Amino acid sequence: MAAYQYETHEYDVVVVGAGGAGLRATLGMAEQGLRTACVTKVFPTRSHTVAAQGGIAASLGNMGPDSWQWHMFDTVKGSDWLGDTDAMEYLAREAPKAVYELEHYGVPFSRTEEGKIYQRPFGGHTTEFGDGPPVQRTCAAADRTGHAILHTLYGQSLKNNAEFYIEYFAIDLIMSEDGVCQGVVCWKLDDGTFHVFNAKMVVLATGGYGRAYFSCTSAHTCTGDGGGMVARAGLPLQDMEFVQFHPTGIYGSGCLITEGARGEGGYLTNSEGERFMERYAPHYKDLAPRDYVSRCMTMEIREGRGVGEHGDHIHLNLSHLPAEALAERLPGISESAKIFAGVDVTKEPIPVLPTVHYNMGGIPTNYWGEVLNPTKDAPNQVVPGLMAVGEAGCASVHGANRLGSNSLIDLVVFGRAAAIRAGQVVDAKARNGELNQASVDKAFDRFDGLRHAKGGTPTAELRLEMQRTMQADAAVFRTDKTLKEGVEKMTDVAAKLDDLAVTDRSLIWNSDLMETLELTNLMPNALATIVGAEARKESRGAHASEDHATRDDENWRVHTISRVVGNKVDLEYRPVIKDPLTTEAEGGIDLKKIAPKARTF
Ligand SMILES: Cc1cc2nc3c(=O)[nH]c(=O)nc-3n(C[C@H](O)[C@H](O)[C@H](O)COP(=O)(O)OP(=O)(O)OC[C@H]3O[C@@H](n4cnc5c(N)ncnc54)[C@H](O)[C@@H]3O)c2cc1C
Repeated sequence: MAAYQYETHEYDVVVVGAGGAGLRATLGMAEQGLRTACVTKVFPTRSHTVAAQGGIAASLGNMGPDSWQWHMFDTVKGSDWLGDTDAMEYLAREAPKAVYELEHYGVPFSRTEEGKIYQRPFGGHTTEFGDGPPVQRTCAAADRTGHAILHTLYGQSLKNNAEFYIEYFAIDLIMSEDGVCQGVVCWKLDDGTFHVFNAKMVVLATGGYGRAYFSCTSAHTCTGDGGGMVARAGLPLQDMEFVQFHPTGIYGSGCLITEGARGEGGYLTNSEGERFMERYAPHYKDLAPRDYVSRCMTMEIREGRGVGEHGDHIHLNLSHLPAEALAERLPGISESAKIFAGVDVTKEPIPVLPTVHYNMGGIPTNYWGEVLNPTKDAPNQVVPGLMAVGEAGCASVHGANRLGSNSLIDLVVFGRAAAIRAGQVVDAKARNGELNQASVDKAFDRFDGLRHAKGGTPTAELRLEMQRTMQADAAVFRTDKTLKEGVEKMTDVAAKLDDLAVTDRSLIWNSDLMETLELTNLMPNALATIVGAEARKESRGAHASEDHATRDDENWRVHTISRVVGNKVDLEYRPVIKDPLTTEAEGGIDLKKIAPKARTF
């Protein structure tokens, strides 16, 4: 057994993660007087939420008529009928409250002439249950909404005496013999000390796992650590096959180029200089829906018409646009292209690639953020002591596809819900329980094993192999054949975790070891994604199969539940929750309005 000294900290609640979801949960817990710690591997305001530009959806109706029922309908349709209806109702209903709370906490929203919160249009957000014109529902603080939210929530959390453990890396959950979560084991990155948190409630708010792919818009820190910890605790992940791709991430860095670039007249070309979207979508061309454009680009690359040395990307052309228009309307894009692709957009095309943007799947929860461990007889069984919120969780409000600006609202609505629920189930007067020492020891043994790993495969090499495999075989273009090959390849790639080579054995600022821990978290997320995709014989939302082109509600309107053990994944299915929280008579939505139908645009 590895002998590591550690300090023990006792709290009512420990939140792992300080993005929008983690901070909103932390603040809500602390406000109620619960002794709350927030553990984060990066400084709070460096979490990926800081990069969110567009805004946060809520039916405030500041720019024209809107209602939470319309927002709920759009979310149900966007999810391609895979979301849980109770959670989607909760999201749409609570959204205005959550945004006004943010306003009162001090988020500097942009304003209308009358001083109301400014709202902009976003894809998929409509009026009259999809029959009316688009609605302006997305509340914005210029193009820095995530930035504004993070800074405000961090300040408010400090004001309410939440305690922050910054640059602490959570290694593993502590679970009792009978399946109660008791805390988390952490490594302090800057001085090499270890810290065991004993808590009555652990909240995972660790964000997405975009970095399982070669090209993603998310930060290097988005490594699915919560999903990894949950998988190692023998708990499941849900709907992992649903991964959202944005057509235009910059090749290599993945940095996002907004859809606005094509809105302003930009277009895509292949190695033959052909505007290929005209062939696939004669009407909408380059402005067809995101998932469709991404699929066409991937098809061009697979058929040998990609650009560049490896023929593995596509060109986005803006140079035909007047220089003044570029400078005025797309200054940020011009700058990003210069910095991340070394390209002057007035002269050259930008190299782009469909890029992973969001993970719909994650740790299954109910709409209070409580983690589920479904069984056949109890599909909604709760894991005591454990919650998950934000992109790490799967409530599930985005189902098979997320609408733009519905993630930021998910963070604050469910961060807030988790705090409300914790206020009900956590007894602040009770003493903390005794930790299961075997579980603590197991975390240190795993850590020690990785620290001294003497195999033949460096972490960076194996990570790249995983990322390239996922990018090739679990991306936009999915067939039975590519998925089957992908599962075989990923099974082999995951087995190589046993052959890792870590050269730096120190404990202070050891990025080799930290990235190794992150790789052990990315891997179960990646495996569950590709195995879940291979099993799902239909097309729904972001999961588009060439061999099963239509949605099959009779057999597949179910959540995929995956348990990852080593390089194997066991799949089960859990029914989608079809009942809303309230009936029409109680002021809820007319069920006929949200009955499944074809998703057309
Ligand atoms: C470029 C970009 C633009 C976007 N724009 C929008 C938008 O306009 N509107 C919208 O609704 N959505 C947008 N999204 C999506 C949305 O921003 C994200 O889904 C959301 O911010 C995720 O927030 P989070 O709190 O779940 O996680 P994150 O913000 O990713 O935070 C994760 C936190 O967990 C911590 N953590 C992780 N692992 C560990 C560990 N092992 N130990 C300790 N701490 C750990 C990190 O330190 C961090 O604090 C965008 C996403 C991207 C990438």
